[in-house]
Amino acid sequence: MTTRTLTHIAAAVFIAISLTACGGGGDTGTPANGNGGPPLVVDADGNSTFNASVLGTTLSALPTETLSAAEQSSLVYMREEEKLAGDVYARLGATWGLKIFTNISTSESTHTEAVLQLLLRYNVTDPAANLGVGLYTNATLQGLYTQLVAAGSVSLIEALKVGAAIEELDMLDINTHLKTVDNQDIKVVYDNLLKGSRNHLRSFYKTLLQQGGTYNAQYLAQAEFDAIVNSAIEK
Ligand code: ZN
Ligand code: ZN
Repeated sequence: MTTRTLTHIAAAVFIAISLTACGGGGDTGTPANGNGGPPLVVDADGNSTFNASVLGTTLSALPTETLSAAEQSSLVYMREEEKLAGDVYARLGATWGLKIFTNISTSESTHTEAVLQLLLRYNVTDPAANLGVGLYTNATLQGLYTQLVAAGSVSLIEALKVGAAIEELDMLDINTHLKTVDNQDIKVVYDNLLKGSRNHLRSFYKTLLQQGGTYNAQYLAQAEFDAIVNSAIEK
C-alpha cells in the first residue's frame, strides 16, 4: 500500500469521524437545544434523556386541564416506577461495573424528574420526596425493588434480563395508563417515556445477546417485543 493511499484512507477516516461528531452533536441537546429542540434527547447507544428546560417550555405551552383521579394516581405511580428503574440500574451498575447500567440509570433519573414536573404543575404531593435510593412509598414497588435487585445480583446475564423486564413493565404500565389519561401535557411526557423505554429495551437486549444470553418477553406480547428489538433506535 502506498503512502498516498494511506493518506487518503486517513483523510476518509477523519472525515467519517468528523461527520459522526457532527451528527452526534445534533443529538446532545446542548446548548443549542434551549428552545425548540425535542424534550427527549437520544444518544447513539439509545440512552434517552429528558432536557428538563426544553420539557418545561413544552409543558408550559400546553393548557393545564382538570386532573382526573386516574391521572393523579397514574402520575404518583409513574414517579416512583421511573425512580425504581434508575435505582435498580444504579445498584446493578455498582455490582457488575457495566456502563450500560449507569448510563441508563442517569437517563431514568431524568424520567422520574419529568413526572415530578407534572406533579408540581398540578400541585400533587410528591410520593418520592425525601426518599433515598431503593425506598418507595408504594409497597408494590418497594417489594419489586427488593425482588429485582436480588434477581439481578445472580449474574450479569440475569442483571441484563432485569433491565429488559423493567423496560417492558414500564411500557405495559404506561400503555395501560394511557387508556384513561387524556391531558395533553401528561401524554407528551408519557409518549416520550415510552420512546425512551423502547430505546432502553433495545440496548439491554442487544447487550444481553452480546453477553451470550437469551430472553423471551415477560410483560409485552412476544410479537410486540420482537418488533421493538428488531427496529432501530428512535432519535
Ligand atoms: Zn424510564
Ligand atoms: Zn428506561
